[in-house]
Amino acid sequence: MLMIPGPTPVPEPVLLAMAKHPMGHRSGEFSALMGEVTAGLKWLHQTTNDVLVLAASGTGAMEAGMINFLSAGDKVLVGNNGKFGERWGKVARAYGLDTQEITAEWGKPLNPDDFKAALEADTAKAIKAVIVTHSETSTGVLNDLETINRHVKAHGALIMVDAVTSLGACSVPVDEWGLDVVASGSQKGYMLPPGLAFVSVSPKAWDAYETATLPKFYLDLKPYSQGAAKNTTPFTPPVNLFFGLHAALQMMQREGLAAIFARHDRQRRATRAAMQALNLPLFGADDCASPAITAVMPQQVEAEQIRSVMKKQFDIALAGGQDHLKGKIFRIGHLGFVGDRDILTAVSALEATLTKLGYSQFTPGAGVSAAGQILLG
Ligand SMILES: *Cc1c(COP(=O)(O)O)cnc(C)c1O
Repeated sequence: MLMIPGPTPVPEPVLLAMAKHPMGHRSGEFSALMGEVTAGLKWLHQTTNDVLVLAASGTGAMEAGMINFLSAGDKVLVGNNGKFGERWGKVARAYGLDTQEITAEWGKPLNPDDFKAALEADTAKAIKAVIVTHSETSTGVLNDLETINRHVKAHGALIMVDAVTSLGACSVPVDEWGLDVVASGSQKGYMLPPGLAFVSVSPKAWDAYETATLPKFYLDLKPYSQGAAKNTTPFTPPVNLFFGLHAALQMMQREGLAAIFARHDRQRRATRAAMQALNLPLFGADDCASPAITAVMPQQVEAEQIRSVMKKQFDIALAGGQDHLKGKIFRIGHLGFVGDRDILTAVSALEATLTKLGYSQFTPGAGVSAAGQILLG
């Protein structure tokens, strides 16, 4: 039982859709499928922009988004309050971008005022792009993308968003907010195995493409865009993952965007209420809590021991901490194909685990009861 922030559980209709012979990717059959998939992706992104599919993980989508619209020496602002924000700084520097980071302590959200100050100080308009991780998976913090984006819009730079654990979990209204580049990956909110990455591209980003000179070939997005207009791909796509994507998008459309976001919000609140009822300190405040992942910093009991018993005894995979948070936090994923029953299962298994480890700072049943109350709301 995967309760990690990716790979996430895959529903049976998606697994079955993939259990087919591949078809030729230059066939009319594949083009018909790709047309439907593209329409579904635009629906999920709430956009009429291009949404392009790459055979890559989420990092590939982010890298593509960064290198197609910029030139070496361009100045970029990168938000860094965790492992993923840190990664985008590394990618930017690897390509010779003039990288300025806006940082916040891990577990705290980025401060939109810091972006405002840096952007307002840039009267020469040297900053070409602002790169923000929406849901910082390493800490369970949701950054205030809407406010940060407003400051970016006032300045005129491109906004590039890592929406890998927010897309499909909470609203990322690409057109309404005018998000230029939005990257995501199949193994997170899409209810698919790893292997596909997605990037949406605004007309403004395509304008920047015309003068951008960073080197690119496999990740050159233009051929993907030209291909998508004719329901085809520049290279051999992972055909069976497209079968799965088609089925997953159909499931999502049946559930509806509002219901999907409400489910993630409910499960986030239920998980957090359960941790509080178990007197396990949450890592990160309620008002910036990710809809996809809850980070917990237990006291008097080891995070790694909790993960080990949960895995061995109950076959439930929880994520650990990264870098300096290794061994200090554990993270519960509630992203994608997660039902309310899964939350209750994980919380009750956690209660049993805590008891086995000698942690007695809670009334047995308190976590399940707190989560149940919210789920049944
Ligand atoms: C998982 C994830 C990524 C992408 O990681 P890959 O391993 O390249 O798929 C990027 N950003 C965030 C916030 C993530 O959670």
